[in-house]
Amino acid sequence: MTMQPEYDVVIIGAGAAGLASAIYTTRAMLKTLVIERQAAGGQILYTGDIENYPGFPNGIGGPELASHFEKQATKFGAEIAYGTIVKLDVGGAVKRVIGEEKVYTAKAVIIASGGEHNKLGVPGEEEYAGRGVSYCATCDGNFFRNMDVTVVGGGDAALDEGLYLTRLVKSVTLVHRRDELRASKILQQRAFENPKFTFVWNSVVEGIEGNGSVDKVRVRNLKTGEVAERDTSGVFIYIGFHPINDFMRGVIDLDPAGHAKVNLEMKTNVPGVFAAGDVRTFSERQLGNAVGDGIAAAISAYKYITDSKDVH
Ligand code: NAP
Repeated sequence: MTMQPEYDVVIIGAGAAGLASAIYTTRAMLKTLVIERQAAGGQILYTGDIENYPGFPNGIGGPELASHFEKQATKFGAEIAYGTIVKLDVGGAVKRVIGEEKVYTAKAVIIASGGEHNKLGVPGEEEYAGRGVSYCATCDGNFFRNMDVTVVGGGDAALDEGLYLTRLVKSVTLVHRRDELRASKILQQRAFENPKFTFVWNSVVEGIEGNGSVDKVRVRNLKTGEVAERDTSGVFIYIGFHPINDFMRGVIDLDPAGHAKVNLEMKTNVPGVFAAGDVRTFSERQLGNAVGDGIAAAISAYKYITDSKDVH
């Protein structure tokens, strides 16, 4: 006889994707545990006002929305535990989710561990986060209407988000460490043709300064060594993003950038294990997408549990 797992579903990560999953699994009467390593809410906790999530025409504070998500999930019976997951043992009917301090067992697992934007690691970056330093133009661009902003990075994200910003701001200065962009040619062409875009090549931002909010960046030219102070009201940093995936390496198939590969039902390569939100491949990294993924993963987990003979 197979050992009975403690939970029907264990969800890794209490961000938008994980909590949306939990609302659906608990309403499907599945015993659900959500495990979070920091604070319930995930990335929206770091977003001041959310103006692009449907249903809130006047916007809503990120922490307030996070608290609504959490209340809604726990109201239907989701349990939330705090801890860091280090490993998955999910090949059998009883899935083992191994934490630093405890092992959790479940019939199905939803990975919603999200990701983190790479940081520059320069003085002022942390101090001015949410006060001029941003990692999300679509979230925060509106606060910089008619202002001069700086974008750091030369990949698709920097150009895509920089082009989005040109619709709102007065000017975008892109600071890139080489004299060639990594971004796709079409984005490069659009940026080169956009009169609001200027480029500072072979340069890095080595400091962010301000007085309550950002008012300048210190930029070093890597070729000449010269350091210049440039006035700016915002610094948007796009130097890559890394999914939180250490615990699933070697178990879940990952794309070259380390995101969990899924199909449209959020199924990974392992039966009974699903992935949702920013951690999954091809994510748009938007709140609404994370919620939608979480719901899709929950429905797939429900189907897996009710259809699978192995787990009864
Ligand atoms: P990315 O392609 O890895 O580009 C990161 C950029 O940041 C590179 O230009 C890199 O410079 C620069 N960089 C890295 N570390 C730095 C540092 N410490 N200081 C200064 N600059 C640094 O990352 P991404 O743009 O976030 O894109 C990630 C993935 O998402 C890609 O696969 C991308 O195609 C995809 N994406 C696609 C779209 C789209 O298609 N519209 C939009 C967003 C993201 P170097 O070039 O010198 O290495």
